[in-house]
Amino acid sequence: MQGTNKPLILLYTGNGKGKTTAAMGQLMRAFGHGAKCAVAQFIKDDPEKLDIGEYRTAKTLGVAWKNFGCGFTWEGDNDKVNAELAKKGWEQVKRWISTGAFEMIVLDEFTYALSLGYLDTEQVCIWIEDHKGKNDFPHLVITGRDAPPRLLAIADMVSEIVEIKHHLTRTGRKSEAMIEF
Ligand code: ATP
Ligand code: MG
Repeated sequence: MQGTNKPLILLYTGNGKGKTTAAMGQLMRAFGHGAKCAVAQFIKDDPEKLDIGEYRTAKTLGVAWKNFGCGFTWEGDNDKVNAELAKKGWEQVKRWISTGAFEMIVLDEFTYALSLGYLDTEQVCIWIEDHKGKNDFPHLVITGRDAPPRLLAIADMVSEIVEIKHHLTRTGRKSEAMIEF
């Protein structure tokens, strides 16, 4: 592995399309340098069931990948289940970080776990601040809309993706393989 610099918190937020794909591109770049990589997805349901392309690729490469969500928060009991799973997901991420097993971890749609109050933003940010200086802390790539200001403050890089136009808006076109999943 070439990258021996201090770990970075990279955050992709905003309403435009491209946050998750940016994170996956970052992971692909790191993987190419021999980095051990992991993905924790919040909110999103089983990627096997949903036939997610980036998940398939990650599995082929041997990237660790776990989901901690059950889908849209406004459907049925999902909000409650997503909240419980988000807590488990954050515990998993902390274990991954503490064992030093990975050099890059993607926390996809993680901002929702904070903005929806599933996790305490202050506690999460304090934990990251307290551990970031330790040996083997990985680069964290975080995605999701409405990133809380406290998270913006601890991130080293924040890109806000602004929607100029989107092909699914007012076209009747549905989400499709290769483009959306
Ligand atoms: P992608 O996964 O393509 O990088 P994203 O992570 O930025 O997109 P999310 O906010 O996580 O987008 O939304 C999930 C899905 O909703 C994506 O498949 C994306 O294409 C779609 N999407 C994102 N922005 C819009 C929009 N403005 N209108 C309709 N669909 C959108
Ligand atoms: Mg996304």
